[in-house]
Amino acid sequence: MKKVLIIEDNSDNIDVVEAFLEDYFELLKAMDGKMGLEMAIKEKPDIILLDISLPEMDGVEVLTEIRKNQEIKDAPVIALTAHAMIGDRERFLKAGFDDYMGKPIIDDNKLIEMINNLLGKR
Ligand SMILES: [Mg+2]
Repeated sequence: MKKVLIIEDNSDNIDVVEAFLEDYFELLKAMDGKMGLEMAIKEKPDIILLDISLPEMDGVEVLTEIRKNQEIKDAPVIALTAHAMIGDRERFLKAGFDDYMGKPIIDDNKLIEMINNLLGKR
């Protein structure tokens, strides 16, 4: 099973993603940016779902550190954020994320397809 790391401080959102993904992926969870980065370095997940608004380090800071780390810099990272606005996707792609998903995440097929698509590219 491919390893998916979700870095998200809202436990309801983690529960939703876990329910969607648990049959298909090994799921690792971290609830703040610093823990998430540490877990990414230690566990080398195949893909990372990264909330933007997080305690300790925000999602953009975590992404910056991931991209600087030789061992994990190529991991695909999907931005997760609430308050989706027009232009968000372009903004996050420009910041170095591989894709973007607005919250609440309600479409399990869309999430799984996005993950599989990015895993297939590596
Ligand atoms: Mg958050």
